[in-house]
Amino acid sequence: MTEDDGALRVAIVGVCRRLFHAGLIAGPDGNVSVRRPDGRILVTPAGLSKVDVEPHDLVVLDPDGQHVDGARRASSEVAVHLRAYATRPDVGAVVHAHPPTATGFAVAGEGLAADVLPEIILQVGVVPLVPYETPGTSTLADRCAPVLREHDAFLMANHGATTVGPTLLLAHQRMESVEHAARILLTARLLGRVQRLSDAQVQALNATRLASRPGVSR
Ligand SMILES: [Zn+2]
Repeated sequence: MTEDDGALRVAIVGVCRRLFHAGLIAGPDGNVSVRRPDGRILVTPAGLSKVDVEPHDLVVLDPDGQHVDGARRASSEVAVHLRAYATRPDVGAVVHAHPPTATGFAVAGEGLAADVLPEIILQVGVVPLVPYETPGTSTLADRCAPVLREHDAFLMANHGATTVGPTLLLAHQRMESVEHAARILLTARLLGRVQRLSDAQVQALNATRLASRPGVSR
């Protein structure tokens, strides 16, 4: 294990615990991965509760998913992570969770609108909904691929949410933002009034987000 690999493992374990303590996953739900500088993927193992994952439990895969190192089996949902890395050279980390309110929108058949909250527009823009496929299948990864090309966060129908980022820090922040936005949107609906931003207001926020990502056309 190199020094870099050790630091990445500690960072993944930290995110797993934060996801658990924020209520964004329960038990073995969810999975977290990072693309190492050598191109291999460091990912959480199947079966273990995320709050119990230790750095030595993580699994190393090559980019096409072949097991390289680690005593455990990789998460069964790693196919979506591998597709994200294959689709987006700019993606360095993937976080998948089952955040309860955002997943509630996904169960209701909705993504998150991008014309309500400045913070969600600045973080990820629109959060689309990917149609349901059985978790862990390559068919689900196929469904996610076109959405991944255009978005850093998306919901998966009747399942959960996935976020990507150039760093693990950003991918994790985006997951927190998605759930936070879902809670706020739900609250506004309960109050009975959702005031939407104007097109000009949304465009100004989108311009700010895109300007912060040189080289990314979205
Ligand atoms: Zn899942």
